[in-house]
Amino acid sequence: MATESELTADETSGGGLAPAPAPGRLIVLSGASGSGKSTIVDRLLADHPKLPVRRSISTTTRAPRPGEIPGVHYDFVSKAEFAAGRDRGQYLEWAEVHDQYYGTSVEPVTRFRAQGLSVILVIDVQGAFIVRDKVPDAVLIFVQAPSLAILEQRLRDRLTDDEATIELRLNNARREIALADRYDIQITNDQLDRAVHELAQILQSDPPGA
Ligand code: 5GP
Repeated sequence: MATESELTADETSGGGLAPAPAPGRLIVLSGASGSGKSTIVDRLLADHPKLPVRRSISTTTRAPRPGEIPGVHYDFVSKAEFAAGRDRGQYLEWAEVHDQYYGTSVEPVTRFRAQGLSVILVIDVQGAFIVRDKVPDAVLIFVQAPSLAILEQRLRDRLTDDEATIELRLNNARREIALADRYDIQITNDQLDRAVHELAQILQSDPPGA
């Protein structure tokens, strides 16, 4: 006898096609390095394991930081591999950030959304605006650190970047913060719990026009 996983969608739904789920939402989270945007998403996924949401895993040419796991934090590739993927149309968006390339693969995003799962992209401002052009119903959220001084302190506390990299990231931070008011929603990450709660509420709310 066929197990359920061997049956087609038609057979498992008793003859009729099961209705396709409403597509998941596309949520874009940006914010300067050190704003805590990744930490917010990590906490959201840990605290709300049943939320129908997935985090997109970006591809990057930068080297892994200590503790970063390939395929979990990023897919780490060479510049040649990145360029080959870009030329094949692999990326929904890609950008050069801090002298490295970063991109969002379109295939998992499309697949998850078709399954009714929302997808969170943690990407820079350039990528965010490309996504808005391609996916007009994407929700763009900007995470603000409480202040630039706190941002600088967080970057220094990481102890993973050299002085030149910290300066580069701070300059980019100023440029990114200047674009925050073009986002749909801003979250200030002065208290992690509150920021996580705000993001969870956005995900649980009905999409505009629903
Ligand atoms: P980091 O090297 O600190 O992990 O990330 C540096 C910057 O690249 C962050 O602003 C991060 O959000 C952004 N980034 C990460 N993945 C992507 C991506 O797939 N596309 C774009 N455009 N930016 C990304």
